[in-house]
Amino acid sequence: MSDCIFCKIAAGEIPSNKLYEDDELIAFHDIYPKAPVHFLIVPKKHIESLLVAGAEDEALLGRIMLLVPKLAREQGLGAGFKTLVHTGKAGGQEVFHLHVHVMGQPQ
Ligand code: AMP
Ligand code: ZN
Repeated sequence: MSDCIFCKIAAGEIPSNKLYEDDELIAFHDIYPKAPVHFLIVPKKHIESLLVAGAEDEALLGRIMLLVPKLAREQGLGAGFKTLVHTGKAGGQEVFHLHVHVMGQPQ
């Protein structure tokens, strides 16, 4: 997906303010934060959206969801936070590479 901005970030071709990276996932601060803490967790695999995720992505999606509270705590959101996944143009998605938003106010 040569024209996908999140694939380029995952490949290190575009810089990001990175919080976390392993062989399957990357997390970075949203460039236009809508909360005092606002970061994105992104699988390195190009999955367009939840609408096309398949059974083969089950473990990857589980890893994303378990990384949410770990990184949220590290960012001072141990008291709570919001998660958001836009899906499809009709669901407000603007970047068509699956990602989970994590937003909150450090307590
Ligand atoms: P959405 O697809 O609606 O969930 O929104 C995509 C999100 O990605 C928006 O909150 C953007 O601010 C964010 N975004 C777009 N480009 C970048 C980038 N290069 N680095 C970090 N965040 C980005
Ligand atoms: Zn992509």
